[in-house]
Amino acid sequence: MFVTINISTKSPEEFIDITSLVEGKVRASGVKEGLITVFIPHTTASVTINENADPSVAKDIISNLDKVIPPRGNYSHMEGNSHAHIKSSLIGSSRQIIIQNGRLKLGTWQGIYFCEFDGPRKREVWVKISD
Ligand code: ZN
Repeated sequence: MFVTINISTKSPEEFIDITSLVEGKVRASGVKEGLITVFIPHTTASVTINENADPSVAKDIISNLDKVIPPRGNYSHMEGNSHAHIKSSLIGSSRQIIIQNGRLKLGTWQGIYFCEFDGPRKREVWVKISD
């Protein structure tokens, strides 16, 4: 089963918790045991799994990535969003998660984040659920 999740980001850089959206797609699929792949079809966004209990964790990731890869810098790419391309590559375009008993098998403190690095934009998350 393949589904697209549409999201609209609101800031230049932000992490959006998409765990419940993804879990909803698992429930709708009826798959009880399997795998889900979450894929981001963009070059200036990505997906990661990290703590979603304390929102300051995502804030710290964004602010510290900015220290290493600042939005303004000596880049060659003329579009002016090189930092976003680099962050997208570092974090990565996809994650795979186990489905067990019809639910995402995530650690207690883990959530799935859509990572925007060149927003605000309309974005897609591609999801493939296999049993
Ligand atoms: Zn670009």
